Amino acid sequence: MASELDLSRDRLDAPFARRVEELSGENPYACYQCGKCSAGCPFADHMDALPNQVLRLVQLGDESALTLSAPWVCASCLACGVRCPKGVDIAKTMEALRLLALRKGISHFPLTPDRPCPQIALVGAFRKLTP
Ligand code: SF4
Ligand code: SF4
Repeated sequence: MASELDLSRDRLDAPFARRVEELSGENPYACYQCGKCSAGCPFADHMDALPNQVLRLVQLGDESALTLSAPWVCASCLACGVRCPKGVDIAKTMEALRLLALRKGISHFPLTPDRPCPQIALVGAFRKLTP
């Protein structure tokens, strides 16, 4: 039997989504999933979820977003934000997810030989991790 997706108001006002909004200053529910961000992301090929998919998980209050490598691959280049017709700054959302992951002890920086990532992504990630 196919699993059902709970799109009730309670679900969509999930504490996780509100926490991400609080940390990022960006309203995840402003996103209407047009996909322009993902189409313009230069690192999308290296992500395990596209930027709009990351936003969707946040909208649904799905904390599995914290286990994705995508926020760590994001180099905060801002290409997504300038393309977004709703003005969502996804780089800030990615930063909030990194913060929450670190607070929960989930380290997902993909520094493994079988999982290379672009050099600029490394630079961006280290910059974010520098106090
Ligand atoms: S471009 Fe903006 S509205 Fe479109 S999917 Fe990305 S975040 Fe959502
Ligand atoms: S800021 Fe991150 S998610 Fe947005 S286009 Fe750049 S690498 Fe992709």
